[in-house]
Amino acid sequence: NIKKHFPLKNKQLFSSEKPVLKAVDGISFSVQKGETLGLVGESGCGKSTAGRVILKLLEASSGNIYFKGENITQFKGEQMRKLRKEMQVIFQDPYASLNPRKTIAQTIMEPMKIFQVPKDEQNQRLERLLDVVGLQSYHKYRYPHEFSGGQRQRIGIARALALDPELVICDEPVSALDVSIQAQVINLMEDLQQEFNLTYIFIAHDLSVVHHISDRVAVMYLGELVEIGNVRDVYQDPKHPYTQALLSAVPEADPYHEKQRVILKGDLPSPATPPQGCKFHTRCPFAEEICHTEKPVMKQVSPDGQMAACHFAKEVVG
Ligand code: SF4
Ligand code: MG
Repeated sequence: NIKKHFPLKNKQLFSSEKPVLKAVDGISFSVQKGETLGLVGESGCGKSTAGRVILKLLEASSGNIYFKGENITQFKGEQMRKLRKEMQVIFQDPYASLNPRKTIAQTIMEPMKIFQVPKDEQNQRLERLLDVVGLQSYHKYRYPHEFSGGQRQRIGIARALALDPELVICDEPVSALDVSIQAQVINLMEDLQQEFNLTYIFIAHDLSVVHHISDRVAVMYLGELVEIGNVRDVYQDPKHPYTQALLSAVPEADPYHEKQRVILKGDLPSPATPPQGCKFHTRCPFAEEICHTEKPVMKQVSPDGQMAACHFAKEVVG
């Protein structure tokens, strides 16, 4: 039940309540070891904020985060330092996240230095990491500007793996790359997952990007989870109108079944002033009276544990 609310300065817009932006507004999900969970939604839906809260780069306003059975919500200092090794992040823009004045060797070895990995082991790991992400050993003497976008993301991936983490949160790692390069990087990430036994939370605004890499997918809208389930269930039989709309926009998904096209109306409302009731009602083609006043709760909608939050999704007990 993670919430991340940011205080807002503009008081005139609001009357009695303290003005807050509810970037993440009570989401719950779990990720199994070795699994990839795709976390999808339009920009501004809170998915990156959720990722940062899980990594504890941002403090949750409320709710609890468990990692390997342990409640890490209040971890500080040395406990947090140890945890840092096990949870890493790959950012959307590899160029912005690489120091232009540092060589590739310095960049990849930096986390190892911080955690005092022995010198010879640092060098061995550097060579192995360059190799597994598809870079050459001589690349280590070069600087970020000498590489293409795809290569820079490979460098970002190598750095994220430097400390042999268990969980990697991938925040739109291919969104800034050419479509032709996206598949290469996703394939690489799948190979690395096998080789290093990684668990991924893979954030994307596009359902087509996470289709192949994810085991399960979670869809967010205005800070809330609206649907979650196995990739097959969610892509073949989405139960929430928002997921249906996102999938209607994905041309590759068409051959799987004759799906009803759901076209979104209007723009994404501001998370500072979200609609009452179902937050999606201002854009939902199926909205009825109840949707304006009553907030739908997550319920099970397939025997495999697919869940959706819509008044009109049929509950299935599995
Ligand atoms: Fe649409 Fe109503 Fe379902 Fe919300 S609860 S998704 S508005 S039909
Ligand atoms: Mg983002």
